Amino acid sequence: MRDLSNRIENIEASAIMAISSKAAELSAQGLKVISFGAGEPDFDVAGHIKQAAIEAINLNYSKYTFAEGLPELRSELSVYLERRFGVSYSPSETIVTSGAKQALFITLQALCSEGDEIIIPVPAWVSYSEMAKIAGIVPLLAPTKKEKGFVLDPDDLRMALTPKTKALVLNNPSNPTGAVYTKEQLGALLETCLEEGIYIISDEIYSEFVYGNSQFVSMAASHAGAKDAVVLVNGFSKSYAMPGWRVGYAAAPQHIIDAMGIIQSHTVSHPSVVSMYAAAKALAHGEDFLEGTKTEYARRRKAMGDALSKIPGLGFSWPQGAFYFFVDIKGLVGKIAKGGQITGGISFANMLLEQSHVACVPGEFFGAADHVRLSYSSSFDEIMEGMERIAEFVGSLR
Ligand code: PMP
Ligand code: GLU
Repeated sequence: MRDLSNRIENIEASAIMAISSKAAELSAQGLKVISFGAGEPDFDVAGHIKQAAIEAINLNYSKYTFAEGLPELRSELSVYLERRFGVSYSPSETIVTSGAKQALFITLQALCSEGDEIIIPVPAWVSYSEMAKIAGIVPLLAPTKKEKGFVLDPDDLRMALTPKTKALVLNNPSNPTGAVYTKEQLGALLETCLEEGIYIISDEIYSEFVYGNSQFVSMAASHAGAKDAVVLVNGFSKSYAMPGWRVGYAAAPQHIIDAMGIIQSHTVSHPSVVSMYAAAKALAHGEDFLEGTKTEYARRRKAMGDALSKIPGLGFSWPQGAFYFFVDIKGLVGKIAKGGQITGGISFANMLLEQSHVACVPGEFFGAADHVRLSYSSSFDEIMEGMERIAEFVGSLR
């Protein structure tokens, strides 16, 4: 038979999903695996959201709906975005998607032509560059510096810009670094993007999770005229602990939403109506649940950070947002473990999983060698046990 598409040749399967599968395999063999791998909230879905899904089934929400999503949910999104982030989008300026992943993917398809470039500040979540490549778009990686808190500034952006650049993909709060942009930092980036006529795809999926004195500001609220340039992406996987329900969304100027709707109408049609109905109820009555999860994440963050600070050879900054520690393991490179030598994040993560049964994600997949990402979306008890195992593993290195 003839070859598969050349689009697939340079694309990696999601390393995060692969680590989750490996951890699940070990668990199936009867081992007690602690997963600090995928950022998957361990909370159960709130009772009223589950009830809403049952209600949707009983009300026969079983037919197709509009490609841009269930009208009830688009109305709630419009209210929620104004209430929570002070950004004003009409229901028609929103689109509901099968997870934030699909919102990002169809945004790229709607904005970019074959051969256009997008700028991705690194370290970055693994899927942006692969999605771009699938869509025939060139991902340009713009390095950020640890000393600057992994925040991209307008000079870094200008260095990466070319006449073919269509968009900047900004993840705020950031997975994996935990960086949270201030309003001034966002405004400065936006000014540059408006001057250059490039869009900002603002992935705000961790918007509900910021800690200490940090404050989340939506890119669309950062600057006068922001809405012309911004495609705001968010979803229910993190904030409402509903990753398997596959509901995400985007808000953007009408002509962009219309273009995304056309793409969606020919691909998935729309997300599951049952999930969308339940998501509408989540927004209408979700504040208590959000407060509870935020407090618990803050507790887990403190426990993991305190434990990390006691392990020699590991470096980290306290994440201001999201639910990951991005740990510098340079101090351990060259050391010998039972299974071989630590040469970077990949070997560290493999040996930690095989010997201590703790899963984490190597920094190489985020564009930062000699790092690993630890997620604190697992339970408090698992965090305590997993950190003990990591301390023991690091202590055993020679
Ligand atoms: N953006 C970032 C930064 C993520 O970490 C993730 C992973 N959940 C997504 C988007 C995609 O989320 P969803 O489950 O809504 O597709
Ligand atoms: N986004 C989560 C993570 O970074 C879940 C896995 C994925 O969607 O890539 O762990």
